[in-house]
Amino acid sequence: MKKLLPTSTAGSLPKPSWLAEPEKLWSPWKLQGKELIDGKHDALRVSLQEQKQAGIDIVGDGEQTRQHFVTTFIEHLSGVDFEKRETVKIRDRYDASVPTVVGPVSRPNSVFVEDARFLRQQTDQSIKWALPGPMTMVDTLYDDHYKSREKLAWEFAKILNQEAKELAAAGVDIIQFDEPAFNVFFDEVKEWGIACLERAVEGLKCESVVHICYGYGIKANTDWKKTLGSEWRQYEEVLPKLQQSNIDMISLECHNSRVPVELLELIRGKKAMVGAIDVATDTIETPEEVAVTLRAALKYVDADKLYPCTNCGMAPLSREVARGKLNALRAGAEIVRRELSA
Ligand SMILES: [Zn+2]
Repeated sequence: MKKLLPTSTAGSLPKPSWLAEPEKLWSPWKLQGKELIDGKHDALRVSLQEQKQAGIDIVGDGEQTRQHFVTTFIEHLSGVDFEKRETVKIRDRYDASVPTVVGPVSRPNSVFVEDARFLRQQTDQSIKWALPGPMTMVDTLYDDHYKSREKLAWEFAKILNQEAKELAAAGVDIIQFDEPAFNVFFDEVKEWGIACLERAVEGLKCESVVHICYGYGIKANTDWKKTLGSEWRQYEEVLPKLQQSNIDMISLECHNSRVPVELLELIRGKKAMVGAIDVATDTIETPEEVAVTLRAALKYVDADKLYPCTNCGMAPLSREVARGKLNALRAGAEIVRRELSA
């Protein structure tokens, strides 16, 4: 019988301090050339080992080979000039200096396929691989060519579809598209965001998941959260349409957030990756706290469709804290699994 409540992470995990400066986003690499390539692979091995030791069921690369979940993918595309930078407001929230789209975008070579193949060689467990979603990519760039967020998103969707198919062929079991922008631009999500995501998974032979969160535990995000009031109902805007989509799973932030858990009812029938670990605090959850979140989710998600997860990536945390949180996730899931089988 298939194991109930398989655990996983939203994607990123802290990097070792010999590879990049810890507890920092967009942290520059400390190695170069061949040393950097080897260093990334070694970090990936270590990250996988830590997930295995913690007893995580669906493992990933910990995003050890990328500097950032959106920009590293875009760096491999043509049509984007990284020297030509503009300051834009991303996620309608904070200013960031971003590269410029200067011509038609395309993917001359695969981006993460070699890394995925390397991860596949290291483990027999199910593996999940994260890619940025089309809308979030558009929202992390200045567009001086298409002059249309929608048009650019469709081009990215086609590119992501090529990459996703190659990742699946390399042995990836679940491909995750990170779409934090889905929590901000509701009209665009309904008009073209979900349609673009469906284009990205067209003909895909493995499972797909969309991850929609309230972001990493950085100041711009925690400040934004303070403005959202006592109940965070953003998911209410997009979940009904996602329930109708051909995306297999939906990854949501739940633990310690003000998201009303009953909103999970809106995706009943879909598999739900339920965030049971808060990534915006160094406090390590107790297994019982994780169990409380999972039990609450079980009122709206069938047990065979519940996937305990972290709220978001853990890249900005210390390795010690991240390890503690992985252990808590596994132990909390175990408690609820025992209750379900009793
Ligand atoms: Zn996230």
